[in-house]
Amino acid sequence: MTMPTFTVIAPIFNELESIPELYQRVKSVMESTGEPWELILIDDGSTDGSTELMRKLAENDPRVRPVIFARNFGHQIAVSAGIDYCRGDAVIIIDADLQDPPEVILDLIAKWREGYEVVYAVREEREGETWFKSTTAALFYRLIYRITDVEIPLDTGDFRLMDRKVVQVMQQMREKHRFLRGMSAWVGFRQVGVSYKRQSRVAGETKYPFKKMLKLALNAVTGFSYFPLQMATYIGFIAAGLSVLAIPVVATLRLLTGTALLGQATTVVMVLFLGGVQLISLGFIGEYIGRIYDEAKNRPLYIVAEAPEDLPDSKE
Ligand code: UDP
Ligand code: MG
Repeated sequence: MTMPTFTVIAPIFNELESIPELYQRVKSVMESTGEPWELILIDDGSTDGSTELMRKLAENDPRVRPVIFARNFGHQIAVSAGIDYCRGDAVIIIDADLQDPPEVILDLIAKWREGYEVVYAVREEREGETWFKSTTAALFYRLIYRITDVEIPLDTGDFRLMDRKVVQVMQQMREKHRFLRGMSAWVGFRQVGVSYKRQSRVAGETKYPFKKMLKLALNAVTGFSYFPLQMATYIGFIAAGLSVLAIPVVATLRLLTGTALLGQATTVVMVLFLGGVQLISLGFIGEYIGRIYDEAKNRPLYIVAEAPEDLPDSKE
């Protein structure tokens, strides 16, 4: 059997209404390349009938390969499973809601043919997203860019093409709390961006409520930076430095003029402020320790309930 040149990976969490258009558009774009391809659909615990529809598509078109999870494991884990199961020389990650237009895949492929191993799609514009989402996203990308050691491109989601070489490295990276854009930047090789216009969803609602966005942001920060841990050190030095300056001032005033400078209110404010800083620092340490604990348990990344038969031995 011939191996596909291209694998398209789409994670699916209750996208019943988007799937037919996703399939049609991916199919016509990929057929226009004239090369063999496969579409891996990861069912991340859908309950709206997406699972049955995926099975039906696969029956009619063997290029569609569903991997069905035992429950919802989250978007980043679903895409990771696609990366484990893909067989293409070039692998494209795309959202199932068609916010990333499949037609852009041709631009990604063109860059890949020029010799780039990672071609990421940069959001030039965002359509149909709330002010809150686009502002927090823009802030988030800039924060990550500043505090991480890896150069993670700005305004770039998971929509990208990765060469087999990069995919093989990604398959070795089994960290439990995943930020795929950071991981694929970390791998290196030749990387380049292609800009595109992010569309509105074709149907349904976002599956990324604020809580999930916050979790992703925390995974990005803790996965690629020690900055939150170092913040305690910085603030500690500043507070200690200030008090060293303040001690002689307070003592001199007290001795020479007999005025006690600090009132009770000031003391209470200082105690609350430093107590707050200490608790926040502890919380940050807790975030890292929780992640160490999850790594130590070493549970599988996901549980597959159902996967195509001719896949490599079922991966963890
Ligand atoms: N998704 C998933 N598991 C989840 C949440 C989302 O597989 O727990 C999928 C979802 O079906 C979609 C993609 O991840 O294909 C991106 O999610 P969404 O469009 O809701 O995020 P947004 O574009 O709003 O950030
Ligand atoms: Mg979306």
